[in-house]
Amino acid sequence: MLSVKDLDLKGKGVFLRVDFNVPLDEERNIRDDTRIKAALPTINYLLEQQAKVTVASHLGRPKGKYVPELSLKPVAERLSELISQKVILAPDVIGEEVLKLKRDLQEGQVLLLENLRFHPEETANDPAFAQLLAQEVDYYVNDAFGACHRAHASVGAITRYTRKSAAGFLVIKEVEYLSKAIHSPQTPYVAILGGAKVSDKIPVIENLSNKADSILIGGAMAYTFFRAQGFDVGHSLVEEDKIDLALKILDDTAGKKANFYLPTDHIVAFAAEPEAESQIKDSFPIPSDLMGLDIGPKTVETYSEIISQAQTIFWNGPMGVFEIDKFSEGTIKIAKAIAGSEALSIVGGGDSVAAVYKAGISEKISHISTGGGASLEFIANETLPGIEALTE
Ligand code: ADP
Ligand code: MG
Repeated sequence: MLSVKDLDLKGKGVFLRVDFNVPLDEERNIRDDTRIKAALPTINYLLEQQAKVTVASHLGRPKGKYVPELSLKPVAERLSELISQKVILAPDVIGEEVLKLKRDLQEGQVLLLENLRFHPEETANDPAFAQLLAQEVDYYVNDAFGACHRAHASVGAITRYTRKSAAGFLVIKEVEYLSKAIHSPQTPYVAILGGAKVSDKIPVIENLSNKADSILIGGAMAYTFFRAQGFDVGHSLVEEDKIDLALKILDDTAGKKANFYLPTDHIVAFAAEPEAESQIKDSFPIPSDLMGLDIGPKTVETYSEIISQAQTIFWNGPMGVFEIDKFSEGTIKIAKAIAGSEALSIVGGGDSVAAVYKAGISEKISHISTGGGASLEFIANETLPGIEALTE
């Protein structure tokens, strides 16, 4: 895989794919510009090298048609502030007008295309569309790690129509760290998996059960596993249609490398609400009017002990409903245990990253992945369509 540093950039037209899929409020103000900032090292490098930079991103899900609310206009403004120079916002992604803007672009200038997903051809990975994206472009640079798990035109097909394709600094960093957890993890390797749904995480569990030494399960997904074992979990969140699969995973893991841990106690309440009275439950059944909303203190202790021995840690998915303080203790304590270990630690997933910041230990994490779905899929499949496209 080429790096942006391997390209001779002066005077060259570069198509830079970034992940500017930022959260917007009702007035279309950017609520969090982390994703824009994450691409700055690559953008600034391209500008220093006097490339002619066309930047492209998706934003939200406009489903292949023009949706004014999902224009990249606020992003253009923010980017302009961050790089202290004008950012030209194109009226579209392809077409005559855009082509002219690309042609007129000067060295060291930035053109931001409109939302790629205004065109259905983007998500369809349409080659003709990709070819149009690549017009007036010498090189393709992908710095959109968060989109690398999607085989879309600006991530996949486009690489066939540019002279060279390379990874930006963010993608290089992500691949470097995540590869450590895939190919050469220092042991003990501990994977901590939680969050809302088992279904999101099945391929990750399957892959990690051959790689990790321990898999620590928390969050709502634990209850699908308990249910699969025949326990009564009250009205905890259970994916009824995944119970068979959960049972199969439990059976499979028995013969695999990893030791598979489920919580031994639970914080339960009537509902995931701040006012709901909570209690600790360390055996089943959980009464039918209660639900498990966090891991309990015994589980925290067991998991923390395992984490303290780890040399490599991958964490995705909160241990409980951490958004509500009452049910956040398990997640916060696990975050702190990770922070306190000497392991190389990688955290991926939007909510997990939010939990890391809530716990105030972000500085102690070796790598906080910017790509939730992408990091999980990379850990599960050991590659991503966007990375494949760069290496072909
Ligand atoms: P990530 O974004 O890090 O990949 P997920 O989106 O998979 O994580 O899961 C995060 C969500 O899971 C949070 O909103 C959290 O409230 C929810 N969650 C965790 N544990 C439970 C639980 N026991 N019951 C209900 N929801 C839970
Ligand atoms: Mg999430």
